[in-house]
Amino acid sequence: MSGPVLRAADALAAEQLPAFLYDLPGLRAHAAAVRAALPERVELYYAAKANPAPPLLTALRGAVDGYEVSSAGELAHVRAAVPDAPLAFGGPGRTPAEFTAALALGVHRWHVESERDLHLLAAAATGPVDLLLRVNLPVASGTLDSVALAMGGRPTPFGLDPDRAAACLELLARPEYARLRLRGVHAHLASGLAAAEQLALAERVVEWSVSLAARHGFALDEVNIGGGMAVDYADPAARFDWTAFGKGLADLLDRRPGLTLRIEPGRALTAYCGWYATEVLDVKHSHGEDFAVLGGGTHHLRTPATRGHDQPFTVRPVAAWPHPWPRPAVTTGRATLCGQLCTPKDVLAHRAPAAGLRAADRVVFAMAGAYGWNISHHDFLMHPHPGFHFLEGGED
Ligand SMILES: *Cc1c(COP(=O)(O)O)cnc(C)c1O
Repeated sequence: MSGPVLRAADALAAEQLPAFLYDLPGLRAHAAAVRAALPERVELYYAAKANPAPPLLTALRGAVDGYEVSSAGELAHVRAAVPDAPLAFGGPGRTPAEFTAALALGVHRWHVESERDLHLLAAAATGPVDLLLRVNLPVASGTLDSVALAMGGRPTPFGLDPDRAAACLELLARPEYARLRLRGVHAHLASGLAAAEQLALAERVVEWSVSLAARHGFALDEVNIGGGMAVDYADPAARFDWTAFGKGLADLLDRRPGLTLRIEPGRALTAYCGWYATEVLDVKHSHGEDFAVLGGGTHHLRTPATRGHDQPFTVRPVAAWPHPWPRPAVTTGRATLCGQLCTPKDVLAHRAPAAGLRAADRVVFAMAGAYGWNISHHDFLMHPHPGFHFLEGGED
């Protein structure tokens, strides 16, 4: 799958580096496989914040049922890229202006994160509004200890405290809130969960939602169990077990006739389709260790710095060395791959195997498709922005 991407990276002129390359046929195939592993009664949404590049949004359209957005800006952007797609809209701090803008553009499901959201939504709505209550459910202690980003199961600003669900239901029962139609519950509790952990969480969220609906006498049509399917940067070949996850969800749905489940992964859909290609500018030996200084860095691909991992990479040796002076090269077998920023945090991979790596060789980082360029601090140090190449296949 990565062959065409590496060849496309080789074909770029040195002046075109650094560059992001995206494998759109690969993304389509991956998303279609995810969709195929899920039961029919599970709707697949893509969390646009993972990577909102329009060609990716468009490529996903055939496999996903909709998109999850977290601001009016994302909402307008996704609406323009995939005009017909259903949108789910959440987020902890939406302004009244965002509520009005989103109502005008049309939202399939509102994720209500507080009583304030209900008040603002009721005041702004001119027609029916379908919503889910986003709840920060307690989870068994230890369940989320291993994950990178816990957004629930402990004190956080995300979603409603379970204690406040009753107050929201009381508001929704009032005549002046009649436009607001409660369809179910939403819970995005963490990112980085394996299939078995996701299933355990899904069971817990559905159980809690069913009992809330029974206590308060509302029809539970839908439960959105969020995103957070694990991506393992240390092992690019290891993938979230969508087959086991789909089977587990099918079991769960067999026990809950009439219920629709929704999931909204971001990272696990787009991480694998993106590469960041650059070249080695210099190799320095410093206090016994080698440092390969690359064009670009974490101002383009911040992911390894924010998560504290080493970004997986492939070296593409370049034979030509145009200079009369000696070519700097790694001599210790390992090198820290760093960028052009004047900060020790600008590291893409620490002490990685890099025997023989030389200046002017190319390095192509894999798994750069999610939370890469769009979360990075592009203008820190004012280096040029990278190129973007959305490969359709058949380029070579
Ligand atoms: C970030 C986020 C997601 C996607 O999380 P991933 O870890 O990228 O799958 C889904 N839902 C909500 C509410 C989010 O905030």
